[in-house]
Amino acid sequence: MSKLTFSTSSRPDPLADEARLAILDDPGFGVTMTDHMVRIEWTREGGWSNGELLPYGPISIEPAAGVFHYGQEIFEGLKAFRHSDGSVWCFRPEVNGARLQRSAKRLALPELDIDDFIESLKVLVSADEKWVPEFGTGETSLYLRPFMIASEAFLGVRPANGVTYFVIASPAGAYFSGGIKPVSLWLSTDYARAGDGGTGAAKCGGNYASSLAGQVEAAEHGCEQVVFLDSSTHTYIEELGGMNLFLVYADGRLVTPELTGSILEGVTRSSILELATDLGLRPEERRIPIQEWKDGVASGEITEVFACGTAAVVTPVGTLKWDGGESTVGTEAGETTMKIRQSLLDIQYGKADDTRGWMTRLV
Ligand SMILES: *Cc1c(COP(=O)(O)O)cnc(C)c1O
Repeated sequence: MSKLTFSTSSRPDPLADEARLAILDDPGFGVTMTDHMVRIEWTREGGWSNGELLPYGPISIEPAAGVFHYGQEIFEGLKAFRHSDGSVWCFRPEVNGARLQRSAKRLALPELDIDDFIESLKVLVSADEKWVPEFGTGETSLYLRPFMIASEAFLGVRPANGVTYFVIASPAGAYFSGGIKPVSLWLSTDYARAGDGGTGAAKCGGNYASSLAGQVEAAEHGCEQVVFLDSSTHTYIEELGGMNLFLVYADGRLVTPELTGSILEGVTRSSILELATDLGLRPEERRIPIQEWKDGVASGEITEVFACGTAAVVTPVGTLKWDGGESTVGTEAGETTMKIRQSLLDIQYGKADDTRGWMTRLV
C-alpha cells in the first residue's frame, strides 16, 4: 500500500475527444504528452511529501538546479496496455520500481517506495485513461516515463537536498510501422557508454548523453543503432544505447552478456531469460567476445541476433558493421526472435495466461 496521498488538480481544458482520437490513430513515439502529470517533491529534512496530479505543462525550476549542472537525473520507461475487457495493465512495474531505487542509490538520489512508484502510475493512468489506445489496435500502448531530478538551486557539488519526481505519459504506436525488419548495428570502437565502477547499470540520462556520439557515428555509417563493447578491453559485447542484446545459437542456446556492472538490467531482458526455457531454449548469461558473434555467424552456429527493451519489445538484428567489415546474420526476422517477441506481447496484452503474475492492473 502506498503511504502517500495524491491531490488532484484536473485540467480544465483537456484535449477534445476528436483531436485526441486523431493522435491515437497514429501516435508515433514520444511525440504527444497526455493531459496530466504526477509530481512528488522530496527534501532531505521532510522526505517525500504527498503527490499531486497536475495538468501537463511547463514546469518552473531555477536555472541553478543541480540537474542542469551535474546531471543528477534518473528515469524509467514502461507501458500501459489495454486488454480486451477495457482494463489497463502494466508489465512488471515492481521491477521498474526496484530498478529506480537502484538507480537512485547510484546517483545519490532518494529512493521512492515501490508501492508509491506504482501508485504514481495508477494516479496518472486513471486520470488519462482515455489516452490508452484501444485493444486490438496493434502494438499500441501508453508509454509511461517516471523520472527524478535534482531540483534544489545550489551550485556546490554534493547530492541535492531537494529532489522532484515526475511521471508523464505519451501514447505509443507500433515501433515498426512498416512490418518488422532487422536493424543494422554499428560496432563502436572509439566510444564506450559506460565503464567499470561507472553508472552503466543505472538508468540515468547521462548514459544516454554518452551514447549519442556513438549513435551519430552509427548513422554516418548507414546503421540504425550502435553496439558498445566493454570499455577496458574492447573485447566483450555489452549492449546498445538503450537495448540489451541476445544471440540465438543453432543448438538452442540463447546467450546474453552477463551483468558486469556496466550493462543496464532490462526488464525485457530478464523476462526473456525466464521465458526461454518454456520455449525450449537454453538461456546463458556470460561474457561474449565480439569475435564470437562474427565467427558464429560465419560458421552458421549463430542463427539469429536480437535486441530488446520496453519501447521496441524485441527487435531483430540483421547486419553488424565495423571499421573494415560487416556480417549479416539474417535479412528477415528469425523464427526464435519472433516466437519470443510474440510470447511477451501475448502476456502484455492479456492474450496469454499470466502464469508468473507479471501483470499489474492500473485501471
Ligand atoms: C532501459 C534500457 C534498456 C531496456 O530496459 P527495459 O527494462 O527492458 O526497457 C536497455 N539498455 C539501456 C541502456 C536502457 O536504458
